[in-house]
Amino acid sequence: AKKFGRNRYHYFTPDMQAQAQARMQRIGDLRLALSRRELCLRYQPIVDLRSGKIRKAEALVRWQHPSLGLLSPQEFIPLAEETGLIVELGNWICEQALEQTASWRRTLDPAFQISINTSPVQLCDNGTRLDAWLTWLDRLQLPGSALALEITESILMSEAASERLLAIQSMGLEVSLDDFGTGYSTLSYLKKFDIDYLKIDRSFVQSLSPGSSDFVLCEAIILMAHKLGIQVVAEGIETDTQHRYLVEMGCDYGQGYRYSKPVSADEFERLVAGIHRA
Ligand code: C2E
Ligand code: CA
Ligand code: CA
Ligand code: CA
Repeated sequence: AKKFGRNRYHYFTPDMQAQAQARMQRIGDLRLALSRRELCLRYQPIVDLRSGKIRKAEALVRWQHPSLGLLSPQEFIPLAEETGLIVELGNWICEQALEQTASWRRTLDPAFQISINTSPVQLCDNGTRLDAWLTWLDRLQLPGSALALEITESILMSEAASERLLAIQSMGLEVSLDDFGTGYSTLSYLKKFDIDYLKIDRSFVQSLSPGSSDFVLCEAIILMAHKLGIQVVAEGIETDTQHRYLVEMGCDYGQGYRYSKPVSADEFERLVAGIHRA
């Protein structure tokens, strides 16, 4: 056979073939992951910067893969979105999060709120049954405000998703704009939609020092949000210095390794008990 024929680009190289096979394998595994109970949620505290108390948590999904170990969402959420599995996955995450909120509202704080990440694909799909979400809220005797949906700016651009969003808000769920400042932000969305929280992306918090453009941007975002009646969560706070600057700027909530990495439900309870006793 000719080694480098003219048509060589029409064929998979062994490498590409292996990649495609690994992908198919992972899709198959993901289909089974839910029934095999391999998925779990980790919770990262969201701290009230005025009181220092943990008032909320963000649920972050993990996949305990039988042979590959613990996989991060970046390693399987995109796949779940491409294959439509995100709908089933998202419904499972929502139900889990609601059960956890109900439990922590009894044991930790009657106003406790958990936020979950929702992808545009999931929100637009007809398989995402909002009536089911309502049924779970009812069964657990939870008000809509027990759950916040984290959405990205891109969702607000699609007609279908923005309709869904209105339906979600009419159920009383709160809405948090994730990774603020990194997408194609158009400030007019803040006027058009009733956003409850704005999450300043980690990239703005990373190199926060007086005089830096990130410092100016954080200050301005907080000021603008407050004038619009929106509360602000700063993401990716790792150091005491970052924490101090954000407190001084009047930021409402903080999240990041300075307080805790995402942890299991048990660890989360110990964390809250420790912090609130201190
Ligand atoms: P995100 O929504 O921006 O979540 C925050 C990510 O930053 C999390 O990574 C978290 O562990 C990490 N993080 C938190 N604090 C710090 C910090 O102080 N420093 C640094 N360097 N990182 C910090 P994770 O858990 O790997 O999640 C990555 C992304 O995957 C999330 O980004 C979110 O977009 C997506 N994701 C996670 N869970 C779900 C889910 O249940 N559904 C959907 N659709 N997407 C999810
Ligand atoms: Ca998020
Ligand atoms: Ca984020
Ligand atoms: Ca509002």
